[in-house]
Amino acid sequence: MNKSDIRITEPSIEMQQKIIRARNAIVNQKPRYIKCPYCKHNAIVVYEDTRGHVESKCKKCGRVTVFDVLNMRKFKPLQYTK
Ligand SMILES: [Zn+2]
Repeated sequence: MNKSDIRITEPSIEMQQKIIRARNAIVNQKPRYIKCPYCKHNAIVVYEDTRGHVESKCKKCGRVTVFDVLNMRKFKPLQYTK
């Protein structure tokens, strides 16, 4: 897909209210950065109430990874050596 094909429209009022509510909900939560397992770029940010699986496409290397947020919480991030 060509980048110029992307159309940006303002979300509906209802959606904007949801976005504001979501913003307020995470204000007091500690963000946790999950790194892309391939390039170690910060791929996604999850909050304390994030549960289950999230899929993210890394902005840097473009790989799509599914993260099991709850499961990954139990482990320290793996340290890779180059
Ligand atoms: Zn990556």
